[in-house]
Amino acid sequence: MIVMKFGGSSVANAERIKHVASIIKSYSERKPIVVLSAMGDTTDHLLTAADEAVQGKVALSRIEKLHKATAEELGVSFSEVQPLLEELKTLLTGISMLKELTKRTRDYLVSFGERLSVRLASAYLNKTGTEAQYYDAWDVGFISDSNFMSAELLDSVWDLIPKAFESYKTGVSKAIPIVTGFIAKDKNGYITTLGRGGSDLTATMLGAAMRVEEVQTWKDVDGILTTDPRIVPEAKTVSEVTYEEAAEMAYFGAQVLHPRSMVPCKKVGIPVRVKNSYNIDSPGSIIVDGHTGPVSAVRAITAVKGVTLLDIVSTRMIGASGFMAHIFNQFLKWDISIDVIATSEVSISLTINNKGDLTGLLEDMQKVAATECKRGKSIITVICDTTQASSILADGFAALVKKNINVQMISKGASKVNISMICDDSEADLVVKTLHEAYFPDTVTQ
Ligand code: ADP
Ligand code: ASP
Ligand code: MG
Repeated sequence: MIVMKFGGSSVANAERIKHVASIIKSYSERKPIVVLSAMGDTTDHLLTAADEAVQGKVALSRIEKLHKATAEELGVSFSEVQPLLEELKTLLTGISMLKELTKRTRDYLVSFGERLSVRLASAYLNKTGTEAQYYDAWDVGFISDSNFMSAELLDSVWDLIPKAFESYKTGVSKAIPIVTGFIAKDKNGYITTLGRGGSDLTATMLGAAMRVEEVQTWKDVDGILTTDPRIVPEAKTVSEVTYEEAAEMAYFGAQVLHPRSMVPCKKVGIPVRVKNSYNIDSPGSIIVDGHTGPVSAVRAITAVKGVTLLDIVSTRMIGASGFMAHIFNQFLKWDISIDVIATSEVSISLTINNKGDLTGLLEDMQKVAATECKRGKSIITVICDTTQASSILADGFAALVKKNINVQMISKGASKVNISMICDDSEADLVVKTLHEAYFPDTVTQ
């Protein structure tokens, strides 16, 4: 048994869905459970529609057109999705009248993307002779907490999922399950979402609970690359990555996988393969517990833009106790999480990914520290074997010096797989390109 997850770009239109159906068919011997994202940018379009509804405008035509045209081109009945589109319209009308949108309603609203795509794909598979059955994730055990927009799955999913797929596993049911990614329900029956890109987590959770041979996540790139291909088009596939490296990459901005998606598979040791639905013959990347052979010291480079850097210097005597405690307490109080941090005895530099108003936090901090707040910064992270930090830093910094780039802070993560540095947003792409050139001089494939 395997899990196959196809992201939004892999199911962007009817032609792509047909192609995905052919990939699914080619794996039918391995008893796939399929997870689908919403078609193309549907999730973004739903979020825009929500914002417009709050302004009093009900605009559904883009989503309606796409799904209608897709049903037509696939040759499946529009009635597969019509009831959902009607429900969606009613919801948007409701929001436009109330002119307010809670996180709970937002999750209900974005859930339509995945619910529409599974219905179309499953109808097409059945029409073309492959027995399939679509499921909304809550019907196959996906229950979460009520942290809307970034819900955590409850431990009970580990038992509920295998129960839901019992008959498929034993062969009583032959229909290939096509499950919505990204969504779940809380204990009160309200729809939740697992955070943007959450279909990866749906897939890895399913795979782990079912103890499948492997989880495949099909994207529009040849696996996990040495850096973001939109910054460095020559970026190369990293053939083998550990769960820890993949998680670190995701946390530090590589859009390729959902940050929490490695947790279930790491727990039970299920390999995750990242493959390209536009280039099926490419082997892609495999994510496993530990490296099986020698690997290069630097695995990949990531960038997160638009972060804020705080330079905090104690106004008390050197060594005064309680300085750090006071500072961190303020972050707790204002519920702001810290990403990268570097400290000395009397000063702390740290980054936060927060675009909102920081006045309250800064006022509280000024009581014991002089705090400078600098917006428009980027975190560039080198995912690497930090036992070789000296030579990695020497090579990277030699290249940056040649281009006159001065980074503003550096931090070697406690995870032993990353080194992060901070620069201005305007320099971020250049830093990534320069480091990529230094670490992968002839963009060697590994
Ligand atoms: P999905 O199809 O699952 O929704 P996403 O679009 O969320 O996939 O993620 C894949 C995209 O992530 C790629 O198209 C690529 O542009 C981007 N990306 C950024 N960094 C990396 C990286 N290091 N490796 C692979 N892809 C990356
Ligand atoms: N459709 C959701 C998103 O765009 C979930 C996913 O694609 O994984 O974030
Ligand atoms: Mg995605």
